[in-house]
Amino acid sequence: MRVSVFSTKPYDREFLSAANSMDGHELEFLEPRLTPQTAKLASGAAAVCAFVNDDLGTEVLERLAADGVRLIALRSAGFNHVDLATARRLGLTVVRVPEYSPYAVAEHTVALMLALNRKVYRAYNRVREHNFALTGLLGFDLHGRTVGVVGTGKIGFCVARILSGFGCRVIASDPYPDDAVTAAGIEYVPLQRLLSESDVITLHCPLTPDTEHLINPDRIAQMRRGVMLINTSRGALVDTRAVIDGLKNGQIGYLGLDVYEEETDLFFEDLSDRVLDDDDFSRLNTFPNVLITGHQAFFTEEAMRNIAATTIDSLTTIEREGPNAVPQSARVC
Ligand code: NAD
Repeated sequence: MRVSVFSTKPYDREFLSAANSMDGHELEFLEPRLTPQTAKLASGAAAVCAFVNDDLGTEVLERLAADGVRLIALRSAGFNHVDLATARRLGLTVVRVPEYSPYAVAEHTVALMLALNRKVYRAYNRVREHNFALTGLLGFDLHGRTVGVVGTGKIGFCVARILSGFGCRVIASDPYPDDAVTAAGIEYVPLQRLLSESDVITLHCPLTPDTEHLINPDRIAQMRRGVMLINTSRGALVDTRAVIDGLKNGQIGYLGLDVYEEETDLFFEDLSDRVLDDDDFSRLNTFPNVLITGHQAFFTEEAMRNIAATTIDSLTTIEREGPNAVPQSARVC
């Protein structure tokens, strides 16, 4: 199958080419992000392979379908960026990678918590300048603290288990409680209770119309003063302006982000010689208690291998047996 791979970085090329070595798809690696302007690059391809910040809105899907594309293979678990109603109307098949390594994202989540708490990023810079003073580096024991996990799916459950191992009291909120989570000693509580009882709150639910700005001024006001808030899920779960206000007035004591509401034009690119015109992002970076990584939580060798293998498997299965042969969990529509 001829496949246009958008938003290609050298690591995508490496892992996808290795996974494709036996399957022989014609992968056309394209560096640009998929947008209405670049969609024509897929002309003549049967499938498009896209990543999290590619535009899969109405206009792009219509252009792709008009050019003969029948299949969209997402190199991600999340599919909030796909206009599913339009995809269905156009008869496009959309597949994703439902699970590639919940450990990768969960471990990065805990890395953000630890780095923020113990100020590893500040200590690193100090020691390189031969400044061995400890003032300003005081942390707290995670052991015995309450951590609230919002969304106990694959990643949230993994985070909960790691933190249980640290000796934290882990509470959770999810509209679909899972018996395995309860059996692991994690208590489900209403979101309001989670917000008011947690020292650390970590978000692991998908971005949907219901969860957009889940963290808003009202919810921030319900949190413990000085709370640590971590978001490695999707940027728009958090109202950025509200969080900036919470940081300014001390209600939020620590903020760790791997995703950002307006990340599309920033993340995955080297913009180090540019002036950023995103004032909210710049303001976030002025706080000493904010740590941001550029959507790298998924980025481990194991995850990249699994993403590539599942993507190539889906292409091959659909080519040989049709879309219905792909496991239900990987089929978005
Ligand atoms: P999952 O589908 O296994 O779990 C999501 C859970 O959220 C489900 O249990 C669901 O019931 C729950 N949920 C839905 N609405 C909720 C709500 N309003 N409140 C609380 N819980 C709610 O998904 P996953 O694989 O664990 O992924 C979780 C998130 O992580 C997704 O948003 C995904 O996009 C994101 N993610 C980020 C990265 C990264 O690199 N930063 C990588 C992979 C996934």
